[in-house]
Amino acid sequence: MGNSETNEVDVRKLLVQQLESLEQSGLADLPVGTDSPDFQFAHAASEEVRATSPQPATAPPEPAQRPTPAAPSATPDAAATTPQPMRNSGQWGSPLPADDRPAALEVINNLVRNCKLCDELASKRTQTVFGVGNPSAKLVFVGEGPGAEEDRTGEPFVGAAGKLLDKILGACKLDRSQVYILNTVKCRPPMNRNPADREIRNCWNYLEKQLEVIQPQFICCLGSVAAKSMLQTTEPLGRMRGKFFPWKGAQLMVTYHPAYLLRNEGAKRHVWEDMKWLMQEMGVELSK
Ligand code: SF4
Repeated sequence: MGNSETNEVDVRKLLVQQLESLEQSGLADLPVGTDSPDFQFAHAASEEVRATSPQPATAPPEPAQRPTPAAPSATPDAAATTPQPMRNSGQWGSPLPADDRPAALEVINNLVRNCKLCDELASKRTQTVFGVGNPSAKLVFVGEGPGAEEDRTGEPFVGAAGKLLDKILGACKLDRSQVYILNTVKCRPPMNRNPADREIRNCWNYLEKQLEVIQPQFICCLGSVAAKSMLQTTEPLGRMRGKFFPWKGAQLMVTYHPAYLLRNEGAKRHVWEDMKWLMQEMGVELSK
């Protein structure tokens, strides 16, 4: 057995150990066997405004609040529930060495490429869209699902919303090589509909495995689909902003999806406010 083969087996063993650890901590329904497979932020800145895992939730830690919380931008929803980061139970497992993370992610990617858990999505996709970026990223962005361009290219956030995300990153003195970007579901929902709850549940374990390998310090949910999935809540997105939710070993925050900003110019200042706060917490100094 060559060295590369030996390393792959080692990475697989480590990943399997972590998956077993996840299961022991209450993670249910591994979908497959472990052997098979962005804006003009410049002007916004100058404005200076701004699951089939129904496990009972452990008492959620109180989210850290921004010193000056943003004004609620949504009407309180009587049916809303308080964010319950039930999927954050426990902490990360032992981190993989940085050099082993790309291979570990590729093991998961191979699982994703062969996944057909969602009949409609699997049959209509051009390809799966796993995620891109730095396997040791300090910050991970979680989006919703692939759109037409993402389905065509296999990379998340490459359309108009992707270009806007790149501008947001640029305004934060970051680029795609420094962060990791992934989606809640890895296959494009037809007609750009929101992914169904069942599809999000089907794909959940891939997302969780990705995060377990990367073990970011910060997670930024882009849009309500990602936020509600990660926090298991029906709380309106506007009420989840301005807080950090403990999520395993990371601090999770919520802001608007770039696609929403394309339709709602006024929300850009809210995202810039969120990103400035995040950068401050990350120790990234933004130019004045
Ligand atoms: S969306 Fe996820 S779970 Fe569903 S078929 Fe695609 S990879 Fe599998």
